[in-house]
Amino acid sequence: MAAIPEELEQHWDTAPQDALRWVPGTSLAALDCDAAPGWSGRKTEGTALVAGRAEELADLQERLFAHGRSGGDRSALLVLQGLDTSGKGGIVRHVVGLVDPQGVEHRGFGVPTEEERAHGYLWRVRNALPRPGYLGVFDRSHHEQVLVVRVDGLEPEDEWRGHYDELVAFEKEIAGRGTAIVKVALMVSAAEQKARLAERLERPDKHWKYNPGDVDVHRRYGDYVAAYQEMLDRTSTPEAPWYVVPADKKWYARLAVTELLLGALRGLGLGWPPADFDVEAEKARLAAA
Ligand code: AMP
Ligand code: MG
Repeated sequence: MAAIPEELEQHWDTAPQDALRWVPGTSLAALDCDAAPGWSGRKTEGTALVAGRAEELADLQERLFAHGRSGGDRSALLVLQGLDTSGKGGIVRHVVGLVDPQGVEHRGFGVPTEEERAHGYLWRVRNALPRPGYLGVFDRSHHEQVLVVRVDGLEPEDEWRGHYDELVAFEKEIAGRGTAIVKVALMVSAAEQKARLAERLERPDKHWKYNPGDVDVHRRYGDYVAAYQEMLDRTSTPEAPWYVVPADKKWYARLAVTELLLGALRGLGLGWPPADFDVEAEKARLAAA
């Protein structure tokens, strides 16, 4: 049974870009993390639409890659932020996994290494930016500098408060160089986060994902929501808007990110690069060979 995207996309009552784009000043604490904004279909239809998008997504990514190979300067960057257990890894597997891995530059940002700490916080981020033609994927990002750094008090307040404007300027700069930025904040509810952590403890195949510090992060759920609130309000810009994706329903989060990424790649408007050789002459040469 082949999925037909044109039929399934009827279930978007509101385009995901409009339903999910952050409106500064909205209350994040009031977000229903179990909702499916804009989508009137069920899980089966949502999952089918993700599958149905695979072909176009792969085609657009290949165009981007071909564009880079032909000297073009465009690239795309999917920034995945999210509360712990919000499913960032699943997005990478299920959504980014739909395209050719050769064209993807994936980078996870953890606790900075000693070498990274010797530089400004944007140093490792700059080094990880996608080259022309590539789809970059950040699992966590430069925004941690106003999230975990704030919540854990890793820098004094006057220092981390200075980062909002730096983040905005940085993204303006990379957008200006031709990178289409898609910023996604995945939000799980406190109850769902606790349930996912409990599941990690129940299942030996998930113990590797668990670390005892996760309980402390869960205890500070409210502090994280406050930090995300201010990050969203202050770093959502026309060049790099935030999309806030309720993530208690994993299938919805994957569907939403699929659509947001698809929209960004469509927006690049790339065709196939023209041949830089004489096609007819090559046909004749090949026929005669
Ligand atoms: P994970 O995503 O589960 O691999 O965990 C990565 C860890 O790195 C998380 O606990 C983050 O809070 C932490 N982390 C990411 N960026 C930073 C940063 N700039 N400073 C401190 N910790 C960070
Ligand atoms: Mg973790």
